[in-house]
Amino acid sequence: MITSEQVKKVAIEAGADLVGIGDIEKFEGAPLEMDPRYVFPGAKVIIGLGFRIARGYIRGIEEGTQFFQYPSMGYGGINEVYAPIVIYEIGKFLEDNGYEAVAFRNTGGRGSISDMTGKKGDLEFSPELHHKRVVSYTHSLREEFPAPDVFMHFRIAAYICGLGEIGYSKMFLTPQFGPLQRFAFLLTDAPLKPDPIYSGPSLCLKCMACAKACPGGCISTTEKVSITIAGHKVEWGKLDEWSCFAYYMGANISTNPFLPENAFKDVPEGDKIIKGKSPVRPQQYSKVADIINRYYPPPPNGYNPPKCGGCLRACINVLEKRGILKGKFKTEFRKMT
Ligand code: SF4
Ligand code: SF4
Repeated sequence: MITSEQVKKVAIEAGADLVGIGDIEKFEGAPLEMDPRYVFPGAKVIIGLGFRIARGYIRGIEEGTQFFQYPSMGYGGINEVYAPIVIYEIGKFLEDNGYEAVAFRNTGGRGSISDMTGKKGDLEFSPELHHKRVVSYTHSLREEFPAPDVFMHFRIAAYICGLGEIGYSKMFLTPQFGPLQRFAFLLTDAPLKPDPIYSGPSLCLKCMACAKACPGGCISTTEKVSITIAGHKVEWGKLDEWSCFAYYMGANISTNPFLPENAFKDVPEGDKIIKGKSPVRPQQYSKVADIINRYYPPPPNGYNPPKCGGCLRACINVLEKRGILKGKFKTEFRKMT
């Protein structure tokens, strides 16, 4: 018999910054295609691992001086390199003790799927092109099971593991790092004692600094999304995900120094999009993204290079100023006013 404390010790020693263990039954009520119990029907708990994004990785974007470190180191590097190694180490510990360890790493390619049942085949469900292909062609191989790939909502999973709360921006906030971390998970049949849902002091100030900082107006200040997770009401501001995908990559020229002024001349409403004055619709997204990537291609091992992160940086600024975070720095994050 192994304990939660032992698993957490292994996780921290292997390199995780945060560890929480969630009761897998707390996914009850989730859409089937986002319910990890359909990945590993024998799972008893989900182990959530948080990996800090160094504040310094976003310094270049904050200053508007350098944009490639964050997608390489703070995004692709954690998801593709660092977290899988830690998952591997914890998995070895679990399996050495006779329990199965199912890896559930993050990846930029499958992160926001709304419908994976294969029934609807609606190409507008996800902003990422490869999701369209998956949604179009996937189908269930087992009766009463959703179509693969089942991919859970990482922020909800982190919530179930007791690691923090979902902020108004829809970013996950932890007491240690605010919005600055990424997550990876393991599902296991080890009967570990789960952690409770986070019930510490509220982390999100509902200050709307995230919404105000958005160069595309993607976070609504009035409309909210409200769901119930394990009996807890969880709310965030409605996010226009298609627009965020375009604006976070740098559709607004004020955040993207690599974009020529006439870059979107062939895109409908392109003159407004480039000034952040129009939402980016699904039909416009591919063209906008292709143009952005043409002028600033993704770095090796990086994801779509963000030239935004405005919500994330605004949030760090306010949380640090208000002394909310456990992680303290000797100087303030925001140097410019
Ligand atoms: S910027 Fe303010 S409202 Fe937005 S997530 Fe952070 S604390 Fe919450
Ligand atoms: S990442 Fe950028 S575009 Fe997306 S919601 Fe945040 S501020 Fe807006």
